[in-house]
Parts: sequence; C-alpha cells; structure tokens
Amino acid sequence: MPTNDQVETASLACPNCGAAKASKIRQTIRSGKLFWSESTNCLICGTQIEVDGTGFPPENIRKILYVEYGKWKIRLTSKKISPVTLKIIRELFDLNMEKLRRIIENFPDIILPLTNVEATWLAQHLGRVGEKPTIELQSD
Ligand SMILES: [Zn+2]
Repeated sequence: MPTNDQVETASLACPNCGAAKASKIRQTIRSGKLFWSESTNCLICGTQIEVDGTGFPPENIRKILYVEYGKWKIRLTSKKISPVTLKIIRELFDLNMEKLRRIIENFPDIILPLTNVEATWLAQHLGRVGEKPTIELQSD
C-alpha cells in the first residue's frame, strides 16, 4: 500500500546531447498537492535545467512514469458511489459530464489515466470523505 511519501522518479537522456541518465524526473505529493520536477545536470555537455510545478505534470513526463511504474486505478469499497465522491473526482480532474458518466459506469473502479502518485493522491482526497479506496494497476 503506497504511503504519503509516495515518490516516483525516472532517468532520461540529456535533451541537448543525448547522454544517458543526465536528466531526472520526479513526481510526489506535498501538502495534499501533486508536485513534479524535471532536472537536468549533464556532465557531458554541461546543460543544466530545472523545471517544476504543482498539479499534473506535462504529458511527456506522465508517459515516462506510466512506462516505468504502470497506469493505476482506484477501487472503491463503498456499495455505491456517493455524490461527494463524484464531486471530488470531477473537480480534481476537471471532468465533463460524459467522462463523469463513464466513471459511474465503471464503479467500483475509478478508471482515469493515473500514475501511482496520482492514484495515491486521489485516494487521500477520497479517504477524507469516508471512502476506503485501494489502488490497483490497470490491466491494459
Ligand atoms: Zn548533455
């Protein structure tokens, strides 16, 4: 079971010269918020870049985390999905009605493209309104 200190990291090639493992990406949770960073420190060409932010990371970073750690989903243990739970999911992921309908159809699984850190983060939010979610690998 992932904990509050959930961190995912992966190494990348230098974006300038292609040197292996010169760049490192990281995703974690800080004070209830998603946090990501990409830091390059290339010993071959000297490129140094630091980029970070809160919220969902850029798609290229998420893709690397999916490859390294897999895509995850949430499974709820409640008998039906509560309005409060739906509201949280809709707000955190900015879902339209169509996507929200798909969430309801897949209950008790909450299937969204989630990194493990993002699934942990969502589970923490749902835990605050009484859900006892588990985090599972998506099988696709
Ligand atoms: Zn380089």
